[in-house]
Amino acid sequence: MPRDKRYDILFEPVKIGPITTKNRFYQVPHCNGMGHRYPKAMAAMRGMKAAGGWGVVCTEECEIHPSSDISPAIEMRLWDDSDIPTHRLMTDAVHDNGGLAGIQLVHNGANVPNYYSRMPPLAPSDMATTYVHPLQARAMDKQDIRDFRRWHRDAALRAKNAGYDIVYVYAGHNMTLLMHYLLSRYNKRTDEYGGSLENRVRLVREILEDTKEAVGDTCAVAFRFAVDELMGQDGMRWNVEGKEIVEMLSDLPDLWDVNISGWENDSLPSRFGAEGSQEEYIRFVKQATNKPVVGVGRFTSPDTMVSQVKRGVLDLIGAARPSIADPFLPNKIAEGRQDEIRECIGCNICVSGDFTSTPLRCTQNPTMAEEYRKGWHPELIAKRGSDSSVLVVGGGPAGLEATLALSKRGYEVTLAEAYTELGGRVLLESRMPGLAEWKRVADHRTYMIGQAANVETFVDSRLDAEQVLEFGFDHVLLATGASWRADGVGRSIVHPLVETATTKLVSADHILRGGAVTGRVVVFDDEHYYMGSVIAERLRDQGHEVTLVTPSTMAAEWSENTMEQHRIQQRLLQKGVDMICTHSIVKLDEGSVSLACEYTGFQRRIAADTVIPVTMRIPDTSVHQALMAHSDAFADNGILSVSRIADCHAPGTIAMAVYAGHQYARELDTEVPDIPFIREG
Ligand code: ADP
Ligand code: SF4
Repeated sequence: MPRDKRYDILFEPVKIGPITTKNRFYQVPHCNGMGHRYPKAMAAMRGMKAAGGWGVVCTEECEIHPSSDISPAIEMRLWDDSDIPTHRLMTDAVHDNGGLAGIQLVHNGANVPNYYSRMPPLAPSDMATTYVHPLQARAMDKQDIRDFRRWHRDAALRAKNAGYDIVYVYAGHNMTLLMHYLLSRYNKRTDEYGGSLENRVRLVREILEDTKEAVGDTCAVAFRFAVDELMGQDGMRWNVEGKEIVEMLSDLPDLWDVNISGWENDSLPSRFGAEGSQEEYIRFVKQATNKPVVGVGRFTSPDTMVSQVKRGVLDLIGAARPSIADPFLPNKIAEGRQDEIRECIGCNICVSGDFTSTPLRCTQNPTMAEEYRKGWHPELIAKRGSDSSVLVVGGGPAGLEATLALSKRGYEVTLAEAYTELGGRVLLESRMPGLAEWKRVADHRTYMIGQAANVETFVDSRLDAEQVLEFGFDHVLLATGASWRADGVGRSIVHPLVETATTKLVSADHILRGGAVTGRVVVFDDEHYYMGSVIAERLRDQGHEVTLVTPSTMAAEWSENTMEQHRIQQRLLQKGVDMICTHSIVKLDEGSVSLACEYTGFQRRIAADTVIPVTMRIPDTSVHQALMAHSDAFADNGILSVSRIADCHAPGTIAMAVYAGHQYARELDTEVPDIPFIREG
C-alpha cells in the first residue's frame, strides 16, 4: 500500500550537525539488560530497529570509566579500547540496515555503588548515593574534574573510532554526574563549579565543548537533558532553571534530547499517563534553540507524531518503548500499513529487564531480545513445516498470538473461544482502573487474524474434550487460561481459609468480571504485582472501605521492577485505601479477619465482610486432562499432538503468555534442542 500523504513529513531528513538522518524516527537510548554481557544479542536487537526503519538507533547508557560502574545492571562500557569491538557489532548492525548509530556516554556519579570496580563514587560534593547503598560518594577535587573531562573525551574518541554517528553528553536523568552538578540540592561547591547556575552549568558546557572539539567534525554531539523533575523547587523546573540552562547552552549541542526525570517519570506507565504526557514540559525548548529537538512520549500514533512536528514541539520523534513493541513501526507507516503497528501498551515489563539484569522482554513483541539467540524476526517467520491443521482452544493472549503466528507460517488454524469476545484475561484486566491500553494486546491480534484467510474464529464456543476429539485436527493447542484461587493459599498461606456466615471469600475473577461485593473489603495481596492494587482501587472507587493487607513491606512489591510501585502506593493512599503491610491472614471470623505479623506472629483483628485473596491462580486443565485420558484414541481421530501453554500450563504475566503462544507457533514441526537458544558469554 502506498504511504498516506499525511505522514510524508515523518520521512523528511533532519540535519544534526555534520550528519543527516533519513527520517524523523529516532530510537532514543534505552537499557535492555544485554549490553556488554550479551553484545551479539544487543547488536542484533539494535540492527533490527534500523531494519524496521528507525533513522537513528542509540545505545543504552555507556559507562565511560570504572568509577561509573552500575553493575549488577547491565549497560554498555567504553572504559578502554578493549571495549571497541563490542560497539563495532552495534554500529555495523545499525549501519548495515540503513540507520545512524548514537551512543549515550555516561558517568553515573553518585548513582552507582561501584561494587565491581570498588572505586569510591564521585559527586560534586559529599553526598549519599542516590540509591540505597551502604556508602557515600566523595566530593571531586579539581584533579578529579580534569580526570573526568579526560575520560569523557577519550570515550568520545573511542566512540567515533567504533563508528558512532551521534555522541551524547548525558544529563537526562537524576542518575548522572552531570545532572548532579546542575542540581543545587547536590552541588554544594563553593568554587567556579558550584553556586550560581552559570557555575553549575560550567562542567556541562566544558564537556560539550570537549566532545565537539574531539569528535564534532564527523559526529553530531547530542545533549540529553531533563528539563523537569516534577519535584518542585528542590529539583529542576522547566520554567525556571530548565529554561535558563537551555537558553545558556542554546546552540552549543547539535541536538537537544529533552525529557523529564527521574526515569519513572520519563518512562511513565500507561496506568499513570497517556501518550505525549511530556509535552507541557518540553515544548519550550524549540523556541530557545536553532538546533533540532528530540523527545519521547510513548508515541505510537502517526497522527500524534505529525502533530508534534507540525506544531513545532519536536523535530525528531523519539521512542524507546514504541520501538521495542514494534521495531518495524516506521516501515509500517512508510508502507501504508499503520493499522498493523503493534502499539506499546505502557506496561513497563521491558523495564524489568534492567532491574533484574536479564535481557528485556516485551508484552507486545515476543521476539524482543530473541533476534540473535533464537533467530526470531519480529515480522518474518518460517513457512509451515507441514500442511497440518491446528485447533487453538482459548482466545487469550497466548491463543491469539499462537493463532496469528501460526497463520503467518501458513497453517490452517481454527480458534475457539468460550466467551463472546476474544482477549481472555487481557479483556478483563483492561477494564480495571488505568489498564485500558492493555487491551491493545488483544486488539492488534484480533485485527491481524481477521485479515488472515487461513484462520477461522469461533467465539461463544466452549469446547469439551469430546468435541476436540471429534473434530480431528492434526494439532490441538490448549490455551485455556487460569482462574484465581479464592481460598488464600499461595506463598504465605498454606492451608485454605474458610469463610464464615458473615465474612465471605470472593475470588479476584469475580471482580474482574464486574461482580459486586458487600461491605468492608480486605484485599489480601500475596502475589505482589498489579492485581491486588487494581482490585483495591476499583472497590474503593465504588465506595467500599478497603484495606490492602500484604506480607510484603509495601503494596505491589514486584512493580518496583516496572517503576510503578511508588505511584501505586501513592494512588491507593490518596484514594483512602488502608494498608497493612508485613501481615498475613490467619483466619476469617464473624465480621472480621485475624491477621498475624510476618515477623513477630502478633495477631490483630480488623473488620471485614468480604475478603479477596490475590495469591495464585489455578491452571484450567480440564479439557487437557479429559483429552489426555483418551490419548489412545488420538491416532484414530487423526490427532498428532496435544499441547498446553501459558496460563493453563504455568500462570505468569501477559508477556509470558504472548511469548508462549509465539514459541509454540515457531516450534511446530521443528526439532527443538534442549537448550533452545544460542548462549553468549
Ligand atoms: P492465556 O493468558 O494463557 O492466554 P487467558 O485466561 O487470558 O489465558 O485466556 C484463556 C481463554 O480461554 C479465555 O478467554 C477462556 O474463555 C478461554 N477458554 C477456556 N476454556 C475454554 C474452552 N474449553 N473452550 C474455548 N475457550 C476456552
Ligand atoms: Fe511497551 Fe510493555 Fe512492550 Fe515495554 S513491555 S515496550 S511498555 S508493551
